[in-house]
Amino acid sequence: MGAALALTGASAASAETIAVTNFTLIDGRGGAAVPNSSMIITDGRIIWVGPASQARTPPDAVVVDLTGKFVTPGFIDTHIHLGNTHDLVQKEEFFTRENVEKDLSTYAAYGFTSVAIMGTDKDLIFSVRKQQRASRPTMARLYTSGQGIVFHGGYGGVPGINTPVATPREAAAVVDAQAAKGADYIKFWLDDELHSMPKMPPQISQAVIDAAHRNGLKAFAHIFYLEDARRLTDQGIDGFVHSVRDADIDPALLRDMKAKGTVQVAATLSREAAMFAYGRHAPQLDDPFFRQSTSPETLRQLDSPERQKQVSSAPVFPELPKFFERAKANFKKLADAGLPFGAGTDSGPPGRVAGYSGHWEMELMVAAGVTPAQALHAATGGAAKILGAQDIGTLERAKWADFVVLDADPLQNILNTRKISAVYIAGRRVPSVAP
Ligand SMILES: [Zn+2]
Repeated sequence: MGAALALTGASAASAETIAVTNFTLIDGRGGAAVPNSSMIITDGRIIWVGPASQARTPPDAVVVDLTGKFVTPGFIDTHIHLGNTHDLVQKEEFFTRENVEKDLSTYAAYGFTSVAIMGTDKDLIFSVRKQQRASRPTMARLYTSGQGIVFHGGYGGVPGINTPVATPREAAAVVDAQAAKGADYIKFWLDDELHSMPKMPPQISQAVIDAAHRNGLKAFAHIFYLEDARRLTDQGIDGFVHSVRDADIDPALLRDMKAKGTVQVAATLSREAAMFAYGRHAPQLDDPFFRQSTSPETLRQLDSPERQKQVSSAPVFPELPKFFERAKANFKKLADAGLPFGAGTDSGPPGRVAGYSGHWEMELMVAAGVTPAQALHAATGGAAKILGAQDIGTLERAKWADFVVLDADPLQNILNTRKISAVYIAGRRVPSVAP
């Protein structure tokens, strides 16, 4: 009896409780901001959130007074690639635990406390994720599809990591293998890179989607063309990780997507913008918020007139702004039709920097015509729902206390997501870009 009491006492004493008080709450569910809020967190989870006047703060809690600040859920980037890029070079052999953790720390520093990786991970990722899920991580939480699926000889991914398939049977076997490793969802590329490569045939995309569903997983696709979006919607795809960029989407597709529950996982507007931004001196090169996440060598190259000239003289260059404008217009149509969408950047590959890109994405979503509240919801509660992630994305009881403290209201101006004062993951402050 005495021993039992002593044990109970010991575990109660070792619980770590913090009370975060007097902030304006934006809880990630999409509603209005609530001034004078408080949140009580024990061992990394929210145990209570509500009006500061009603908070019953345990006597042993560490109190963090956030008067004048705004608190949002940690942001979620629904389309990234991790660990494969060094400066402006992407290579299979860069994928080491050290590089993976470096990138996850960068995302976290920018308030992106969770990321969804789209098909460029080696198996090492599953041990990193296992470790995260067994503890309270200090860098961004990861969701992964493992290796993505590409058509043999076709477009997509990082050579040496992605799995090329030539037949429906091979495709189904690869999906089963990723599912057995513990993939959170399945990712495949369906594109011909502007008619320069063979496109994955319909029988193979159907086999991938069916095998994903047989394994209880969602299937997400890289697409470019309207006709492919149509066919994949018919085939039962769960979501698109890019916008349609060759044509305007029409009411028929919007209707079909809605009827089938197909979502826009990511519109990757910042990716489309980054494709041509560095054909000249891009304004962000002078922005400390951008420079903080970017290596000196990357900055030097992006700022080099020779490289800018090389980028802007590519034959496809004049088309790129058109793809960007169409991605924005199509994104706005989806949003107006009430289809769910996430904030995803396709960051990670050369020139599409971790962390900064997510803030740029939210800015561009607003430029495309949605409200700051919609953009913020896409990067928090909306993103979690799309990923099927139960315990992140909103600041509610029992969820992980992953949150960003801001100096100004992001619902007034989406650029205020950059005014980061602190970032918390599982109730602990992590290194961030805060001054
Ligand atoms: Zn991607």
